[in-house]
Amino acid sequence: MCMVGDVPEFNIENIEMDLKEYVCLDCENKFKGLGNSVICPACKSSNVEIVSAEK
Ligand SMILES: [Zn+2]
Repeated sequence: MCMVGDVPEFNIENIEMDLKEYVCLDCENKFKGLGNSVICPACKSSNVEIVSAEK
């Protein structure tokens, strides 16, 4: 008997891409950021602020 019941479970977590819009307070560059330590891609400053998504 060879039961193939040992299928590995693929625990696909639904990791939502939590992209938020940020604005750099140093150069006023707006960019999409992800995570806790977001830095401005333009000037590498961590002096950024989340821009509330508004439509
Ligand atoms: Zn910047």
